[in-house]
Amino acid sequence: MERLDDNPLYNLAEFPEFDRIRPEHAVPALRAHIANAEKAVAALEAGCEPTWDGRIDALRSATHPLWRAWGVVSHLISVCNSKQWREAEETLLPEVIAFSIRVSQSDPLYKSLLALRDSPEFDSLDAGRKRVVENSLRDARNSGVGLEAGAREEFNACIEKLSKLGMKFTNNVLDATKAFSIMLCDRAETDGLPPTLLEACAQSAREAGEAGASAEDGPWRVTLEHAVYGPFMQYSERRDLREKLYRANVTRAAEGETDNCSIIVDILALRRKLAIMVGYEDYAGMSLASKMAEKADAVYDMIDMIGDAAMPKAREEMQTLLEFAHARGFNEARLSNWDQAYWSRRQVEELYGYSPENLRPYFQFAKVLDGLFELAGKLAGIKVESADGIAPVWHKDVRFFRVLGDDRETIAWLYLDPYSRPESKRGGAWMNDLQTRGKMPDGTVKLPIALIACNQAFPAGGKPSCMTPGEINTLFHEFGHVTQHVLTKVDIPQASGINNIEWDAVEVASQFLENWSMRPEVLKALSSHVDTGAKLDDAILERIHNSEKHMAATQTARQLSFALMDMDLHTKYPSDEFKTPGDAAKAATDRFAVTPPLPEDRFLCSFSHIFAGGYAAGYYSYMWSDVLAADAFGAFEEAGLDNPGSIASLGRRYADTILALGGSRKPMEVFKAFRGREPDPTALLRQKGLA
Ligand code: ZN
Repeated sequence: MERLDDNPLYNLAEFPEFDRIRPEHAVPALRAHIANAEKAVAALEAGCEPTWDGRIDALRSATHPLWRAWGVVSHLISVCNSKQWREAEETLLPEVIAFSIRVSQSDPLYKSLLALRDSPEFDSLDAGRKRVVENSLRDARNSGVGLEAGAREEFNACIEKLSKLGMKFTNNVLDATKAFSIMLCDRAETDGLPPTLLEACAQSAREAGEAGASAEDGPWRVTLEHAVYGPFMQYSERRDLREKLYRANVTRAAEGETDNCSIIVDILALRRKLAIMVGYEDYAGMSLASKMAEKADAVYDMIDMIGDAAMPKAREEMQTLLEFAHARGFNEARLSNWDQAYWSRRQVEELYGYSPENLRPYFQFAKVLDGLFELAGKLAGIKVESADGIAPVWHKDVRFFRVLGDDRETIAWLYLDPYSRPESKRGGAWMNDLQTRGKMPDGTVKLPIALIACNQAFPAGGKPSCMTPGEINTLFHEFGHVTQHVLTKVDIPQASGINNIEWDAVEVASQFLENWSMRPEVLKALSSHVDTGAKLDDAILERIHNSEKHMAATQTARQLSFALMDMDLHTKYPSDEFKTPGDAAKAATDRFAVTPPLPEDRFLCSFSHIFAGGYAAGYYSYMWSDVLAADAFGAFEEAGLDNPGSIASLGRRYADTILALGGSRKPMEVFKAFRGREPDPTALLRQKGLA
């Protein structure tokens, strides 16, 4: 047994020793952290001053080493997943949750929090600290602190079951995704597929044992992995294969060993029970209590308002697409679900004269990154420079950066894990915080440490990794979160960076930056052809920009259908109207899907956002944030996007309000501080061409 002293997860450095941390460190380190935290919490319970320092800060100090180590474990599970890491997680999760519940339900700690709120000191706290105290009280009540002993046991049993079910849901989706593949052996089956996709499929075939597989000669393994499924549906000319893949995708995790159907029913019942136990009418009430929208009605109003604008336009878009397809040899009466992405892509190519795949050679990952950092400099005055080698990393491809502020002082650090590793790394892209800014009692400041993970194509054939405009958009999104995390001016870690921001407002900074990524002048600056260094010409840039509105109403309607089924599942199910979860899904697609889903569609079985992510009664948050982000971007449009002076001064105001204040104020106050008024939802409609 290794000594705890040598355990890099126990003695966690400022920059964790990612090159040394292994799954076998996790259980001993986390158990020791839990024991330490337990001891420190017990001491606080025995008597603590009902003051900010004595109660709030002291509790953070008591538990912070544990939460930081657990954050590192969760991170490694996302980027270095293995059987060993999964086992460590399964062992630790119940213990970590038990500790977390024990703290959140501590009567003495709750009483000292109440005493703080009612003390003279409370009135003298600044707005950020007051907000932290009030949110802590709300969270404690939602954690069941007020329950009698028997009810509390029942409440806790529900929480434990929910966490296990969420984990099972995720693993079922992962396993079901891995279980399906089609091996293509005939060149004709790959008609239409772009070279990057052929390479990805050949690589997948090699990993599945076809050692000699190549992009040119196959065989090619097609899977339901996000990076394969999406492009395949857009590019494959083989309608039969698209149908096969589509059907497999919408019935994922819906039968056999990976069946999520009954898990969904159990999760929803448990959530409802929890919410009712702590005094809400339904789970949406509990979820929205800590969100900017506050009430379900506000969410339904937004869905109605945007839905009313989007639906007539969405039907028009689909009719135009059908006519487009008919004119090009499509001879069915209507477009099936597996035809839409394909014909929509052909329509974009014809209307706007480009294909994202053909643009890929213009956008080298490293150059795009440079351009993104430069834009962040213009907008927010920061400088991001390479700091590779300063901090240990978990994989040789991971980059490390230093973020410099106005006076060229270091204000933050950033890890970037760029490439796809399907066997061990989660799909998609995400941002995470590994450390939050905070002023320590001795006056020193802990700097924010942020992290971006993406799934870019691995550089192959001696060429750098290149990106499509869509992938650039995703990178901008994640970096938008980073800007908010690193540009915070808040000194208390409880409300600095992305902490303490309402879930439905936390996507504002990310979606705001997305708005920049498709601007012609921005894309031009990012472009540099991989062979010639040439920039994209203005005509194409203009067309890319215009194509942003292509099928925008249909996309919006799709998002609204997810938002609506999520809200209905957490407010109106079970009821006469919705006897099964599937009824809520059907009602949402009846209203918002122009082409109805197949009868056997089991989309809910892989809707991880709401069943295994944090988006339960919160999927609407994307659009809610989008409304705010579009209106924030509107301020720049009004001032003139070609005016560097106004961009710099507005950018400074944006940095000083939305980015700097983070979770220290209510999001409405933060927004008004930037825009001078409440958000105007028509900005989003205009941006999407719906108004
Ligand atoms: Zn985001």
